[in-house]
Amino acid sequence: MAAQVDLEKCTMCGGYSQPLCVEACPDSAIRVQDGRIVVTEFICEDCNECGCVCPDEAIEVPLEKVTF
Ligand code: SF4
Ligand code: SF4
Repeated sequence: MAAQVDLEKCTMCGGYSQPLCVEACPDSAIRVQDGRIVVTEFICEDCNECGCVCPDEAIEVPLEKVTF
């Protein structure tokens, strides 16, 4: 899986040119495209750095990974 962005909640961090989630991602898996946040799923490593910094709680990282 990968981080899921709820575009209804995302305000683009109030219109920053460099949104917080884009800055926070250690893998550069998030970018802005056509004015929206896009996650490149195969790069995302589910670290949830983006979810921690999002002021709108618009990012969820599915954590239902089975480890056994
Ligand atoms: S979960 Fe981590 S790797 Fe994935 S988009 Fe967010 S910050 Fe980047
Ligand atoms: S941190 Fe949250 S509000 Fe800001 S651009 Fe990313 S998803 Fe949108």
